[in-house]
Amino acid sequence: MNKPLILVVEDDAPIRNLITTTLKTQDYKYIAAATASEALQQATIHAPDVMLLDLGLPDLDGIEVIRRIRSWSAMPIIVISARSEDSDKIEALDSGADDYIAKPFGVMEMIARVKSQLRRYMQLGATAE
Ligand code: CA
Repeated sequence: MNKPLILVVEDDAPIRNLITTTLKTQDYKYIAAATASEALQQATIHAPDVMLLDLGLPDLDGIEVIRRIRSWSAMPIIVISARSEDSDKIEALDSGADDYIAKPFGVMEMIARVKSQLRRYMQLGATAE
């Protein structure tokens, strides 16, 4: 079976490196983006299996990224954000995010949530066929 491909969208380089290093040690493939426009481009080109998305991006809000992805893809989107108000979580989930991790976060919790989304997504794909 192919290794799942994860798209990591985070403008903060140390956090981005933490996430990608963790994914690598857990045997995932990844691509990284530091801006919303890069993220949308990478998502279109590579069709990743899961997207990990920061909301506070320099060029466009992460919520808008979720909306744009959802107009053409059902890929699982897990938000990782420092915004911890309930209203922020609700807005992200209402816009089409599948899960929400508040910063600061534990990397093993992040991996567990990625696994959970992959499991569900693969099952959905299997039933659809
Ligand atoms: Ca950010």
